Amino acid sequence: MPAKQRKVALLGFRSVGKSSLAIQFVEGHFVDNYDPTIENTFVKVFKLKGQDYELRIVDTAGQDEFSLFPSHYTMDIHGYIFVYAITSRSSFEIVRTLYEKLLDMSGKQQVPAILVGNKCDLLRDRAVSIEEGKQLADYMHAAFFETSARSREVSTLKKFVCIFCLYLQPQFL
Ligand code: GDP
Ligand code: MG
Repeated sequence: MPAKQRKVALLGFRSVGKSSLAIQFVEGHFVDNYDPTIENTFVKVFKLKGQDYELRIVDTAGQDEFSLFPSHYTMDIHGYIFVYAITSRSSFEIVRTLYEKLLDMSGKQQVPAILVGNKCDLLRDRAVSIEEGKQLADYMHAAFFETSARSREVSTLKKFVCIFCLYLQPQFL
């Protein structure tokens, strides 16, 4: 069976760890100083329930509440991973705005999404509670978990992205 192609985009404020998560997920290591302006697409091939998947992760340069949503993020993408840092209240609040902009741009009532609270290794600097994360995820009809690109807690990310790929069907396009 040929590999199924899946394409997901990482969205969120600058510096929340989008690139670090993508690199940790695809290459298995933590990079401390990744150029924040780089937009890159990472490719990972894996097998799930006997089916090969070729997953493309579009790592965006980051958005804020004033960003105009590039229209190419609404096309050709199967699902979205919204990232905030649990240490940054504003990065959390921006997710909601981004999500609503995305719905508006795409003309959809719902998009397949995962909400990720990153940097959970920095517990002492926590600015967003788990409860708040869950509430936002409910609002977005998204799966939710906290993770850390630094402490390699990407097993949760892997698990979720795999489940995500399994359920992302081309009809979402
Ligand atoms: P991006 O702008 O969203 O792509 O963020 P980056 O991946 O470039 O990360 C921004 C900064 O946060 C960098 O200095 C990273 O080393 C750091 N960082 C990313 N993920 C984590 C994490 O899980 N824990 C900690 N402590 N730092 C992180
Ligand atoms: Mg980046």
